[in-house]
Amino acid sequence: MLAWPAPLLPTLPGAGPVLRLFDTARGEVVATTPDRVARMYVCGITPYDATHLGHAATYLAFDLVNRVWRDAGHGVHYVQNVTDIDDPLLERAERDGEDWVVLGMRETALFREDMTALRVLPPDDYVGAVAAIPQIVAHVETLLDEGLAYALDDGTGDVYHDVAQAPGFGDESGYDEATMLALSAERGGDPDRPGKRNRLDPLLWRGRREGEPSWPGPRGTAGRPGWHIECAAIALDTIGMGFDVQGGGSDLVFPHHEFSAVHAEALTATKPFARAYVHAAMIGLDGEKMSKSRGNLVFVSKLRGEGVDPMAVRLALLSGHYRTDRAWTADLLAAAEERLATWRRAAVRGAGAPAAPVLAGLRERLADDLDSPGAIALVDAWAAATLAGDGDGDGDGDGDGDGEDGAPAMVADAVDALLGVDLFGAAPQEG
Ligand code: ZN
Repeated sequence: MLAWPAPLLPTLPGAGPVLRLFDTARGEVVATTPDRVARMYVCGITPYDATHLGHAATYLAFDLVNRVWRDAGHGVHYVQNVTDIDDPLLERAERDGEDWVVLGMRETALFREDMTALRVLPPDDYVGAVAAIPQIVAHVETLLDEGLAYALDDGTGDVYHDVAQAPGFGDESGYDEATMLALSAERGGDPDRPGKRNRLDPLLWRGRREGEPSWPGPRGTAGRPGWHIECAAIALDTIGMGFDVQGGGSDLVFPHHEFSAVHAEALTATKPFARAYVHAAMIGLDGEKMSKSRGNLVFVSKLRGEGVDPMAVRLALLSGHYRTDRAWTADLLAAAEERLATWRRAAVRGAGAPAAPVLAGLRERLADDLDSPGAIALVDAWAAATLAGDGDGDGDGDGDGDGEDGAPAMVADAVDALLGVDLFGAAPQEG
């Protein structure tokens, strides 16, 4: 399906360093090792509701990965899915008396608008689950043929992956069985369903139920796909095995990313699915994680509708580190709006504090596991020096020089390319 328009990406002089990221599977910060073209898969939305700030924070984190790789001279093949058929979508459509296809299309369109407004670089492949069903069915048949999957004999036609035969099971999350069972029950699994070989076995294919949409399935059994095989199939079809980063929110560590890896590794008899599994932390509101079940969501589209500058939303979310659970507050947004105005006042000057150290510092901070707070602090210091008239860069604050000609424009380019914040997007005010 269509992604969204790409923002302009300024080219900066020189190139940035190797990107290091925290890999959940290894439990440490590691250097990414992309080939000429880096490959990244980030799990997309289930389009039954609008994009909230927790989603936005996740896609912004991986947008930084994309930008840092590009600045280091790599091409990036970025893939994202849309889970346009799954239980939550059908449940919401049923609740609201709406066609599930129309609901999914509308929320996907809104997500595209939000990503465009936030200046997130679009995926090269944006693939819906429904479009991937033929590949998914072929994969489920392969697993059945090899005896790695089984159909329940309760007449439902439901097919499960036998994880006891998956040697890599547990390698991604590193969780013990009790933790896995608890998370499975909490996040859409069915550990207590009778007839499964192992309680943790994940659903590959759900046989047709009365009143639910269905497609021709494995061995002629109509139904619809499970969630984890969807991402495995789409990744295999676009970027293949051994890609550089599998990304998503920290609530995808288990079961989703564990089982996508298990499916793909069983299908190809190779490891690893991804070289690094990278997870963005959760955004909270009023002391709780922002989630649909708690009903405490702040939507990007709602903020846009209220006239909030999307660049301020972007800066507010990036002012915390991507791996730190953090809260959304009115003060956080107000601080980001003030910071954005300050940066914009400095950016329109003809001369200012030297740009080269800012560019080098931004590259160094972001390559270090996406230290966006550190990067933002560097731009704060530059803007303060420039606005104080200490543009000669000697740090004495006497403003005895005009500063470096063109430095503000160069810093604005660096902030745009690396942090994705456009400093000329709104009417800047000289001050
Ligand atoms: Zn996924």
